[in-house]
Amino acid sequence: MNKSVLIIGAGISGLACALMLEKIGYTPVIYEKSNCLRNGGGGLTLWSNATDAIQSMGLLEEIYQNSKIISESTIQTSSGKTLAKMPLNDLATQYGTHTVGILRANLHHLLSSKLKQTEIKFGYELVDLEKTNKEVIARFANGHVDTGEFLVGADGSNSAVRKKIFPINTLRFSGYEAWRGISTYTNHNTKCGKAFEAWGNGRRFGVIPVSDSLVYWFATRNTTENRDEGEVSKEQLIDIFREFAEPVPSIIKFTEEKDITRKVIYDLKPLQNWSKGRVMLIGDAAHATTPNLGQGACMALEDAVILAQTLAENKSVSQSFKIFEETRMDRVKFIVNRSWLLGRFVQIESKLFCEVRNILVRLSPSIQRNSSFERIIGHKI
Ligand SMILES: Cc1cc2nc3c(=O)[nH]c(=O)nc-3n(C[C@H](O)[C@H](O)[C@H](O)COP(=O)(O)OP(=O)(O)OC[C@H]3O[C@@H](n4cnc5c(N)ncnc54)[C@H](O)[C@@H]3O)c2cc1C
Repeated sequence: MNKSVLIIGAGISGLACALMLEKIGYTPVIYEKSNCLRNGGGGLTLWSNATDAIQSMGLLEEIYQNSKIISESTIQTSSGKTLAKMPLNDLATQYGTHTVGILRANLHHLLSSKLKQTEIKFGYELVDLEKTNKEVIARFANGHVDTGEFLVGADGSNSAVRKKIFPINTLRFSGYEAWRGISTYTNHNTKCGKAFEAWGNGRRFGVIPVSDSLVYWFATRNTTENRDEGEVSKEQLIDIFREFAEPVPSIIKFTEEKDITRKVIYDLKPLQNWSKGRVMLIGDAAHATTPNLGQGACMALEDAVILAQTLAENKSVSQSFKIFEETRMDRVKFIVNRSWLLGRFVQIESKLFCEVRNILVRLSPSIQRNSSFERIIGHKI
């Protein structure tokens, strides 16, 4: 039997998928349009549901060694007043694995270093594909053509694969933009693994330790769809977040300006299907989400594990794809829609509504008793 599989994209979902497909006897080839693995891109929170998936990949200890365990996460006002606390150490005892902060580059490099049979071809941009009953033919911008038993589109939110199989554009503009950076500013709290998110009026600043000496931060601000002011300097960012108490200004100050990236945030309105014939979408290509719950990469890791499980347990590719969609669809839809609504709630601009929002968060039941949160991060594969 032809066990060749083509994976488009060497991001978190493509690398994780290749790793899991190798384990069940496939020989994947990953085609990546960039010339190398992504090096920057700040950091990520991998919640307990993602570290559970990583445990299934056999990489939990190495992830712990290459990241920072998050002991607690706090939601606070821009002036630093605590609104809610998530005792993540306690939740890890309950869920079995920790939540961690990790540099994206560390995750990419760890996943790719574990690939044994997979070839990664850099500088190959998929431009077209053709499906037959038995195989998929992929065509690349440099003229290369390859054939596989099936093809996995792991090529991110602007997926070329998705545009080929589902041509209708369902990307949704969120109403906000985000900056990301890595800072050398640390303090007692970050060294103890304490993360926080500070909420202002239409602006937010989040800090996640990724090692003893580095923190990853993200900052959001409401914007209009086509506004592009070009690069924003560190001084301008400090000014945009001037209402935020320390350590926010220091964290921005201790960031290399060249490492600050900006992205206008879009998600993908939930699709009805992620596959057509022998082509399957995973990760952001299938279900790009707003970053409010920090679940995009976490879901990509879950996808990789569950896709391999269904392929291992079922006779045909089409049957496996159907079961994969049935298994994943409700959970993913729930997370994408929750994250979208949360974005509306936290990006509120009016001072009065922000006061009401903050009171609601202060009075809300503790995170341990929040069933939605439990459903998201307490999920086990
Ligand atoms: C501000 C922000 C904060 C976030 N924070 C978190 C967090 O804390 N936790 C979390 O879990 N998630 C977070 N996310 C989401 C996370 O970044 C994404 O969900 C994740 O990177 C998706 O991985 P992916 O591999 O599916 O896609 P991508 O990372 O987009 O990778 C796709 C790859 O495909 C390649 N590619 C694209 N087109 C082609 C083509 N035609 N041919 C060949 N290759 C192609 C690209 O070059 C890229 O390497 C955040 C996102 C943002 C914007």
